[in-house]
Amino acid sequence: MPYLDHNATTPLHPAARKAWLEAADRFWANPSSLYGQATAARDLLADCRERLADLLGCSDPGRIVFTSGATAANNLVARHFSRSAPSDALALLSPLEHPAVDVSIRAAFPGRVHDTGVDAEGVVAPKALARALDGAGHRPIAVVSIMAASNESGVLQPWPELASLCRDRHISFHTDAAQWLGKLPAAGLASCDWLTGSGHKFGGPRGVGFLVVPAKTRFRGDLGGPQEDGQHAGTENLPGIAGMVAALEVRQRDLPTIAERGAAHRDAAIELLRERLPTARVVSGNAARLWNTLAILIHRADSRKLVAALDRAGIEASTGSACSSGAASAARVVAAIAPSLGIAPGAPVGMVRFSAGPDTSAADWQAAIHALAEAVIVSAGPSRPPRVDLR
Ligand code: PLP
Repeated sequence: MPYLDHNATTPLHPAARKAWLEAADRFWANPSSLYGQATAARDLLADCRERLADLLGCSDPGRIVFTSGATAANNLVARHFSRSAPSDALALLSPLEHPAVDVSIRAAFPGRVHDTGVDAEGVVAPKALARALDGAGHRPIAVVSIMAASNESGVLQPWPELASLCRDRHISFHTDAAQWLGKLPAAGLASCDWLTGSGHKFGGPRGVGFLVVPAKTRFRGDLGGPQEDGQHAGTENLPGIAGMVAALEVRQRDLPTIAERGAAHRDAAIELLRERLPTARVVSGNAARLWNTLAILIHRADSRKLVAALDRAGIEASTGSACSSGAASAARVVAAIAPSLGIAPGAPVGMVRFSAGPDTSAADWQAAIHALAEAVIVSAGPSRPPRVDLR
């Protein structure tokens, strides 16, 4: 059964499972305790932090704060800035942010969130960000948060340029790289002031992630015990951390092959899509995207019904983000790019997202497109022609 929902979660990689089990069996002591077994756990924790820092191109492992996932990391960013920023400060977000950023930052900055906007392909161009920053006038900007790669469309944002623009203006820049990590090279990501990652998006276990914070920041995450160098309270999930780091190491090592092969399979799938459903639109189809992600818009289709039909055909796909507000999240992405696709606001349009993994074959992709085409034709019914132009 082709599993094409890797942006929601991934199966545990055998290397991650091995590291997880080993840490759970042999290094189960609390890393903060003072006896020998705890020292061994503490050493493993330090080793994981150093290896992750290496992968991210981060010269200071002390910048890494382990969390219970990307949602937790993004909430920490929101809370940090709501505590530390002046009461009139703004936050700037792209309209494509995952709810873990969008909802938490909006709650922390009520009525004080500005939109960076995106271009016709869903990209935040550096010039547009510069304009949005200028548009804030004399009001302070606490943080700019722009995801590295979209969970919905896979579109890539030019985060190195966006980060450097913010750096030049002494404005904090955060990127949620939950979807970038494990799919594209991680090196250099730590040049962003704040960086979020999640283990289960790249073959690690669930319930573990990390936040990279700026060096020498007096960062206070959840309050309580002195874990994570006093930065974030709570006993570390050492098996999870060991599994996550092992998974990222393996993915990084295999990336060149995985990415090249994956992009070829995805591109062949797009060719087939054009033949079978010529009026369907690939979201952000002209922009640089993750090699594994293909989000497709279909006029007058019901996303949920299409996903159910795909499931019956043995294809596991998604309408978009798998969070509880998934439909709303996908709808925001569609709304942000709809005008450029000639889709009128509120026009009935369904979205299906396929997201592949390292082992997804060309045949899996082709089967997915054929199944989608069948589902669209069946759902259009005898009275309605399946080929309705979106424009
Ligand atoms: N950020 C992005 C971009 C995501 O795609 C996701 C998961 O869908 C999350 C955050 C939430 O990650 P986690 O499950 O680790 O909380």
